Amino acid sequence: MNLITKRALLLGSGALIGGYISAKNGAKNPILDGTTSLRPKNTKNLLNDASGLSETPIHKHIIIEQDPDKGLVSILRNELKTAKIEGRPVSLSAARHSMGGQSIPRDGHAITLATNFFEPDTANSTFRCSSGLRWNSALKQMDAIGFGPKVMQSNNDFGIASTFCVNAHGWPVPYSAMGSTTQSFKLLMHDGELITCSRTENHDIFNLTMGGYGLTGLITEMEVDMVPNARLLPKFEEMPGKDFGIKFAQALKDPTVQMGYGRMNVDKRDFFENALMITYRPTENQDDLPAASSSGFVSKFARNLFRAQLGHEGVKRHRWWVETDLQARLTAGEVTRNSLINEPVVTLDDRDPSRTDILHEYFIEPSHFAEWLDVCKRIIPGSYQELLNITLRYVAPDNEAVLSYAHVDRIACVMLFSQEMTVRGEADMVRMTRGLIQETADLGGAYYLPYRLHATQDQFIQNYPEATNFAARKHVLDPQLLFRNALWDNYMARL
Ligand SMILES: Cc1cc2nc3c(=O)[nH]c(=O)nc-3n(C[C@H](O)[C@H](O)[C@H](O)COP(=O)(O)OP(=O)(O)OC[C@H]3O[C@@H](n4cnc5c(N)ncnc54)[C@H](O)[C@@H]3O)c2cc1C
Repeated sequence: MNLITKRALLLGSGALIGGYISAKNGAKNPILDGTTSLRPKNTKNLLNDASGLSETPIHKHIIIEQDPDKGLVSILRNELKTAKIEGRPVSLSAARHSMGGQSIPRDGHAITLATNFFEPDTANSTFRCSSGLRWNSALKQMDAIGFGPKVMQSNNDFGIASTFCVNAHGWPVPYSAMGSTTQSFKLLMHDGELITCSRTENHDIFNLTMGGYGLTGLITEMEVDMVPNARLLPKFEEMPGKDFGIKFAQALKDPTVQMGYGRMNVDKRDFFENALMITYRPTENQDDLPAASSSGFVSKFARNLFRAQLGHEGVKRHRWWVETDLQARLTAGEVTRNSLINEPVVTLDDRDPSRTDILHEYFIEPSHFAEWLDVCKRIIPGSYQELLNITLRYVAPDNEAVLSYAHVDRIACVMLFSQEMTVRGEADMVRMTRGLIQETADLGGAYYLPYRLHATQDQFIQNYPEATNFAARKHVLDPQLLFRNALWDNYMARL
C-alpha cells in the first residue's frame, strides 16, 4: 500500500468513527440540567488561561511585539514603574497555556509577549532569542539550518522563556528539563536593572528563575542549546503496564535512542493494564533531511478518534487497538526529530463549550511506576473525570532549579482529562487531584506546577520543600512583591 493510500485509510477510519458515534449517540455527556456552570464570562478586564477556568480581574492587558533591540526593555521598564506607583502586580506570558493563573496578575498589569528575535550560533550549537519567541517559529528557523531544539515540550505553541519558567520537558532523551539546556538570560529586576544570569553570573538567580514562574523578574532574552536534526526510525514495543517504568529506563540506556515516550490504554475495564513504548534511533542515511512537517495526517486522524472517546468505553478500546496495531504499522517509517515535536496544541482541540481539557502531570521513579499505576487504578476510574490520554516520558535528574520536581530519574506521566465546566465537575476534580497528589508524594514522587492549583498548602510544601527558601529569596529580590501571579498568591504569599 502506498503512503497516500495508507493515510487516506487511516484518516477515513478516524473521521468515520468520530462521525458515526456522534451521529448515532450524540455526545454521551452527562445531563447538565440543574448544575451550576463555570463557563467563562469573557467580559472586559477579565483574563483567562488555557483551562478556561482561571478568569481573573486584571487592571490592564497589553501585547508587546518589540524585540529587545527595538525597545522591549524600555517598554517593560515603564510598565514596571507605573505598576510600582499604583501598587499593582506585573506578570509576563506567551501562550498562557498554564492552567491555574500562573501567568495572570490579579488586578495587575498582564503583559503578553509576541516577540520574534532569533539568532543561531551553529559553531556553538546555541541560539539567542527574545523571550516571547514561540517554539514553532524557532523550530522552523533551526530546521532550515539542520538543527532543532535540544529540549522542548511535545507541542510547539509555547513561549521559550515560559518553557524555562515552568522548566518544561518533552520526548527528547536522555535529557533533564529545558532549564538544563539554557546557557543564560537577561532579567529585568523590580528596580529596572537589567542583569545577566548564567551558571557563572548571578547563579543563584539563574536557579531561582528556572522553574520559578516569573516570580524573580522579567526575562527579555535568552541563550539556549540546540542539537543537529536527525532522521529517526521508531520502534514500537507493547508490554504489560506494570513493566513500563523499568523497561523504559533500561531502553534509554542505549545511547543511540534520541526520542522516547510511552502510552497506556485508558478504557475503564482494562485501565492502565497495557503500555506501548516508542523509541526512535537515527537511520544510517542522514542526508537531505526533509523540512519539518507540521500537523500531520496522523494528528488529524487522532483528533476524531480522540474526541469520540468521551463517554464511549468501546471507542477507548478501539483507539488502543489503532495505536498499538494499525497506527504502529502505518507510522513505522522514517521521520525527522523536528517533525516529531512540530505539533500545535490545536490538533486535539476540544470544541465542546461545556467541557474543558485539563492536564495533570506526576513524576515518579521508574522503580515505583507499577505501584503508581495501582494508585491511579484506585482513584481515576471511580471519579467523574474522563481520562482521554496518558503519555509517559523520561526526565533526568535536575538539581539546579530551586523548585525542582525531579531530584532523581523520573518517569513523567502526563494525563489529559476532559472536565465538565460546572461546580460539581470542579469539586470532583479537586477531590481526585488531591488523592493523586497525596499518593504520588507518598511514593516519593511529585506533581507538576503549571496546571490547576488544586493541591492543598501542605501538599505543595511536601512536593516542593524548597518553596520556603524560594519565598525568602523572592522577598529580597522583589521587596515590593511586584511580580505576582496565582501560584504566588495561593501558596507562597503566606510562607
Ligand atoms: C496541550 C499542552 C501540552 C503540554 N505539554 C507539555 C510537555 O510536553 N511538557 C511540559 O513540561 N509541559 C507541557 N505543558 C505545560 C506547558 O509547558 C506550560 O503550561 C507552559 O507554561 C506553556 O507555555 P506558555 O507560553 O503557555 O506559558 P505561560 O502560561 O504564558 O507562562 C508560564 C509561566 O512563565 C512565566 N513567564 C512567561 N514568560 C516570561 C518571561 N519572559 N519572563 C518571566 N516570566 C515569564 C509566566 O508568568 C508564567 O508563570 C503542556 C501544556 C499544554 C496545554
